[in-house]
Amino acid sequence: MVNLNGRVAIVTGGSRGIGAAIAKELAAHGVKVVINYSSNREAADTTVKEIEQVGGKAFAAQADVSDTVQARVLVEETITKYGKLDILINNAGITRDRTFRKITDEDWNKVIQVNLNSVYNMTTAALSHILESDAGRIINISSIIGQAGGFGQTNYSAAKAGMIGFTKSLALELAKTGTTVNAICPGFIDTEMVQAIPDEIRAQIVAKIPVRRFGLPEEIARGVIYLCQDGEYITGQQLNINGGLYM
Ligand code: NAD
Repeated sequence: MVNLNGRVAIVTGGSRGIGAAIAKELAAHGVKVVINYSSNREAADTTVKEIEQVGGKAFAAQADVSDTVQARVLVEETITKYGKLDILINNAGITRDRTFRKITDEDWNKVIQVNLNSVYNMTTAALSHILESDAGRIINISSIIGQAGGFGQTNYSAAKAGMIGFTKSLALELAKTGTTVNAICPGFIDTEMVQAIPDEIRAQIVAKIPVRRFGLPEEIARGVIYLCQDGEYITGQQLNINGGLYM
């Protein structure tokens, strides 16, 4: 079992939702957390405060991780502040749902850029530092939609499936180094992303979930802790946290 105390993590899109829950859970295990946000400084500051109030360490760092240069600066800021990097959580993501016949080039490109290219941007910037750790961890927050597809979500599904392919290939390349690379595939988790779905459709979704409820961001965060702490022999995998919706 890996002792997480004193380790350093970056959580992209860490100011709210699943990212904030991951940041708080890591901090509760003694990890110093860089909470990346793209525009909402207030939400990021709130998450930092919540962590500090219970004795944890964190700081907020603005960067649009879909931009190669900003991703590099984010990693540099982390090294300047905390001196090392053990854990990278590629969590930032957006949706631009539209059926394929109505999708625009902008909808397609934006979702691929933010959800998939950001994973490349952050991982390429962070890798040399993570490889210096004796227990490096790269965790990509993919989605059930990357496994099962989703109506009106060709762009999102392609990006999330791309993250899974990326995860497996990089896991193979890094297997001998002690750094593991895994994906977490959440089902429907009760965050702003899911709250944006119209009520009627939300009810239809819940009816299809075998455990009959949405997941909680904290349930994804506990999956992250499991992979970081107990995951020495787990690499290239998809951890499905979805209430049985996709098996
Ligand atoms: P959310 O919209 O609440 O949070 C997404 C976060 O990403 C926000 O903080 C946002 O500011 C940040 N972000 C967006 N673009 C960014 C950029 N260019 N640079 C930096 N940060 C950026 O959504 P969430 O539900 O917490 O989702 C978190 C991750 O989990 C996403 O990748 C999402 O696709 C994935 N996911 C969510 C669900 C769900 O049901 N909520 C299910 C499966 C997967």
